[in-house]
Amino acid sequence: MSSESAAPLPVPLFDISRQHEQLETELLAALKQVCTSGKFVLGPDVVDLEKRMTDLCGAKHAVACASGSDALLLALMAYDIGPGDEVICPSYTFFATASAVTRLGATPVFVDIEPDTCNLDVAQVVQRVTSRTRAIIPVHLYGQCADMEPLLGLARLHGLAVIEDACQAIGAGYQGKSAGSIGDIGCFSYYPTKNLGAYGDAGMLTTNDDALADKLRLLRGHGMQPRYYHKLVGINSRLDSLQAAVLNVKLPHLERWTEARRTRADRYTKAFTERGLGEAVRLPVVRDDRKHVWNQYVIHVGGERRNALRAFLADQKIGTEVYYPVPLHRQECFSYLGYGIGSLPHTERAAAETVALPIFPELRDDEQQRVIDAMTEFFQPAGAKHALSGPNFMKARDGAKSDQRI
Ligand SMILES: *Cc1c(COP(=O)(O)O)cnc(C)c1O
Repeated sequence: MSSESAAPLPVPLFDISRQHEQLETELLAALKQVCTSGKFVLGPDVVDLEKRMTDLCGAKHAVACASGSDALLLALMAYDIGPGDEVICPSYTFFATASAVTRLGATPVFVDIEPDTCNLDVAQVVQRVTSRTRAIIPVHLYGQCADMEPLLGLARLHGLAVIEDACQAIGAGYQGKSAGSIGDIGCFSYYPTKNLGAYGDAGMLTTNDDALADKLRLLRGHGMQPRYYHKLVGINSRLDSLQAAVLNVKLPHLERWTEARRTRADRYTKAFTERGLGEAVRLPVVRDDRKHVWNQYVIHVGGERRNALRAFLADQKIGTEVYYPVPLHRQECFSYLGYGIGSLPHTERAAAETVALPIFPELRDDEQQRVIDAMTEFFQPAGAKHALSGPNFMKARDGAKSDQRI
């Protein structure tokens, strides 16, 4: 091992500063323009962003709001969802998907995922529909759309709303349609780590329904229309012009960035396959009828090895993350719902096995090569037994400990 002699270049999971450097002049000019205009809330930059999002998603309306979490909340509010209602969603997702439901006094009904894509399993949804079910929230996890066609069929049959959690899937495609224009309402996040990231919190709702769009617009601004006359009890989820200005500068680059993510995803998949890692590692699966936008490149590593791999990569200064280590049905705050261990087996297995590797448009080739080489070293397909019990494993464990001290 020569890793002691020369400190390896760190490979971050994500580096937000590189995009800023590329566009700094334009971004600062746009921010300055907002500052001098004095129009800090909603205003022309937000209207502009909404217009661009309708074009991008092929949806008739786009309504900006303060975050992806608020978008989910507002979507459910638009359907007057509340106590006694059930909303079906995956457990293997970010917290906000389900907290929006409980925030309104309704009950999230968690269903299991397809083990390969980690998206909602429609066959499981069918079994969980009751007379109280009002909506389904498919999550387009990691940037790949859930299987919307059978889900929409089921929803129409039972009169349920379909709210797409497209927070990780801006620009993703399903059978020629764009995420956010397939169901009744689409919810987007511009949190800085998403494919289109603001400089703080920001979100968007999309819909093809005129009445829903009007209601969402009302709800995000305290239900006020005209000023100081309130038709509904809404919330304050107005978008800042500063965030919209940043997003308007970045949005024209999104397609190129998505393409760069795809190139990097393909490179990982090709390299791991060629190096024979396919046995020890389950690589991401992309369905034929979908356009994946690769918010994350997530592999599955079975058993004890997942955490050992993460420690080994951390020791080599390579960033990884687990999305998500504790599925929502096993979270303390949702224990009252009574989902025991083993109740959603594919979800629980994914939580134990998934690892996200560095993927972002500005990830350099030499950096990605380091990840590929480190992965190969860990799994050593020629003598794979080493990885668990050999020196690498011990080194990895020590590495993890020393990292914690820093
Ligand atoms: C990021 C994310 C959200 C929440 O978006 P915020 O803008 O952070 O509130 C919701 N759902 C999923 C799947 C996400 O990835």
